[in-house]
Parts: sequence; structure tokens; C-alpha cells
Amino acid sequence: MLRSLASVTLIAAASAGCLFAAQPPGRQPADWIVEARYVITMDATHRVFENGAVALRGERIVGVGTQSDIERQFTAEHLLKKPRSLLMPGLIDTHTHAAMSLFRAIADDRRLNDWLTNFIFPAESRNVDKDFVHWGTSLACLEMALAGTTTYTDMYYFEDEVAATTKAAGLRGVLGQTVIGFPAPDYKTWQEAVRGAARYIDTFAHDSLIVPAVAPHAIYTTPDEALVAAHKLALQQNVPLLIHLSETIKEREDTLAQRHISPTQVLEQLGVLDGRVVAAHSISMSDDDLVLLKKHGTGVAHCPSSNMKMAAGVAPVTKMLKMGIAVGLGTDGFAGSNDSADLILEMNLAAKLQKVATMDPQSLPAEQVVEMATMGGARVLGLEKEIGSLEPGKRADLIGISLEHPNAVPLYHLYSQIAYATKAPDVEDVFVNGKQIVIGRRMVTLDKDEIYRQAERYKIQIEKSLAGR
Ligand SMILES: [Zn+2]
Repeated sequence: MLRSLASVTLIAAASAGCLFAAQPPGRQPADWIVEARYVITMDATHRVFENGAVALRGERIVGVGTQSDIERQFTAEHLLKKPRSLLMPGLIDTHTHAAMSLFRAIADDRRLNDWLTNFIFPAESRNVDKDFVHWGTSLACLEMALAGTTTYTDMYYFEDEVAATTKAAGLRGVLGQTVIGFPAPDYKTWQEAVRGAARYIDTFAHDSLIVPAVAPHAIYTTPDEALVAAHKLALQQNVPLLIHLSETIKEREDTLAQRHISPTQVLEQLGVLDGRVVAAHSISMSDDDLVLLKKHGTGVAHCPSSNMKMAAGVAPVTKMLKMGIAVGLGTDGFAGSNDSADLILEMNLAAKLQKVATMDPQSLPAEQVVEMATMGGARVLGLEKEIGSLEPGKRADLIGISLEHPNAVPLYHLYSQIAYATKAPDVEDVFVNGKQIVIGRRMVTLDKDEIYRQAERYKIQIEKSLAGR
């Protein structure tokens, strides 16, 4: 009896690929070894390994180096060989509104005020519920993962549903429950929204993929009392506070006229800049405003596509980076302000926008903009110890980019290749938290056909809802 039990155990161990049983002496176990032509680490010295490899165990990276070093140190259950790809940290989107993917292109080429009050707010009040948020977020997660985004930052409604959907997709999210000064699809008052945010934060407080956050919309839509209450909650729970700041010249001019101080000074006087704050846009900023951001360690989500499409202006990113302010990249919402979740495109545009704004081609060079999309984003979100680079101990969030394209041959300079020549469809493989969620350009955690069906159903519903506008 004892003998047969023992043999069953051995077979089970062998079929599960037990690493300890067959492990050569001196080698550590890993779940994955991923090998590529180049491994771009984005660590403190920006090391790059030619014929490099990354070893993953559980949710973490356990080794990074040359293929021969990693093979000497680790034995793995799965080996992924990508001799014509480069591996790099997963991209980090520091500002978007994922579920708005279902509103893509319903109203373009308009001023922010017109777009918000005449299209987006009515469309949201007539259509947004939990089901809408589920399918909109699913569609966005599909697009983001296929474009190499492994962490994204969201400001929307029904954020508990956004979080559940994001977890099911296998993506990492810093997800902020909106607090706004008028009746929203999920909460009728800002007081209810703050209470709802508290419950949501409790639910996801210790999640390995979700960082819950609170997201007062902006100073011109959210009363001061609500800003202060949202901030108090963020401090109590030690979670990020996400907010739109100085997105337009109008926001700045109106605030100066009404309060005789800038939007950034309003936040400072209310005490809202203390803690983990992510300020999206930050376009219309004086030098004094930038000093305040630096003083409080506020991170900036720079959204070049959105800022250009809305003719909102150019954020002083070159100046911010010189001052040591943390700056990451954001795509912003899919409807009106941007029409895709493509951070590779945002790198390209961010670099070019700074060059044309400063009339200096040396502004925001390729390597620095790749840093913004990875470690820069991690710093903005306060997650620099967890994500943003390929280093042992960090979360296993990495992407493989194919180099088998006309736009990758010949290859002289890796950072220029990524920032200026790579396209989102070149992303082939995506790992988040040690799990491969995109295999050969196919997302394995979501049912794409069902998502497309639901998106078509929503198109009909949304068009009907706006017909009698
Ligand atoms: Zn936004």
C-alpha cells in the first residue's frame, strides 16, 4: 500500500514538471526562462543584454542576464525562445478612462467644454452602468495588452467593476473611483461617491494586480469640500489620488479670475497635493506651479495625443524632467481625446512634441521617452519598487517586441527603434505578474469575439440614446 502511494506521488510530480526532482545541482528553480535577441532592463544604469534572458518564478522576476548566465543559474518549467525579438518592461499608462472605449469616435474635433457637456456627459448619463463598464473595460484591456501595456491608470465610474474586469483580463491597474460634483452614473452625490470609494478601496486593498485609488475629477467639476474629503480618504488608506490638473488655458484663466490663484495653488491650499497624487495633463503651469509639484512629489501623467487633439497646449515636460518631477505617459480616454490605447505611439508623439515646442531636436531624446513609458510611469504611481524595469525582485511584467518587420531592419539603436519605429502590432508576447496573457499576438484571457459582439450592441444603444439629444 505504501509502495503504490509513493509511486503515485512520483508520477504526479513528474507530470507537473516537478523542478526539484530533475533539477541539476546548483541551479535554482524558475517557472519561465524567456530568451530574446536583446533584453532592455531600464534599471538604474539602463543595462542591455544581447542574447539576453529573464527568469520568472511566481509573480516575480528572479534573474536577468545573458542567456548563458541565466541557463547556468536557473532551470525552468517553460522556455520561450525569441531570437528575433526584444524584451523590455511592460508599458505603464498613467492616465486613461478605459470603459470609454465604447464611445470611441462618437464626437470628434470639438472643444473640451462642448465635447464634455454636449456629448460625453449626456452619453454617459444615458448608457453607463455596471454592464457598460464591464464590456468597455474588457475592450480596452484587450487593446491595451495587445499594444504592450501591462499597467494602466483609470478614472471612471463603477470602479469595483473596472477592477474585477481588469483582474479577469490579467492586467495590472491603478484604478480610481471618480468623485464629481454632480449626479454620476454610479453615485448621485459626491458624499455617496466618497463612501463608495472607501468600500471599493477596502475590497481591493491587498490585491496583487489592483491598486485601488480615489479620483476627484478636476477642480472645476468637483467642489472643494469633495476634494478635501477624497484626499482625506486617500491619506487614511495610503492610496493614490488621481486628478485632472490644468488641462486647458481656460481652466487656468477661470481659476485666476475667480480665486486669484492658479489651479495648482488651489490644490496646494486645500492640502490636496500631500500624499500620492497623480496630476493628469498639467499643461498650463507657471514656474511656481512646477515648484509646488516638485515640493510635494506630485507625479504628472503627460498625454500628448489628447493634448494635441484637444488643442489644449503643450505640457512643459522638458522643464519638469530637468526639475526632477516624475513624469509618465498617458493615453487619456478613447472618446474624443484619443482614439487608441497605444503607448508606443505616445512615446513617439511625446518626443516630437517637446522637440517642436522647444525648437530643439535634442529635447526629450529616445532613451528618455522610453524611460517615461516604463520607470517614469512607475515613479508617477509610487510603484517604482514593484514595476517599471526588469530586475530581480520586481513583478514579472514584460513584453516581447518582434524585430521581424521592415520597420526593424537594419537595427542600429535600440531606444530609437522603440520610440520612433516600433508599432503596436509588433508586440508579440505579454507577461503580467508572471502569467503570459498575450501569446503570439493573441490575448488568451479574454473572449475577443464576445467583446466585439457586445461593443456592436452598445453602438446601437448609444446611437439611439443620443438621437433625441
Ligand atoms: Zn482624462
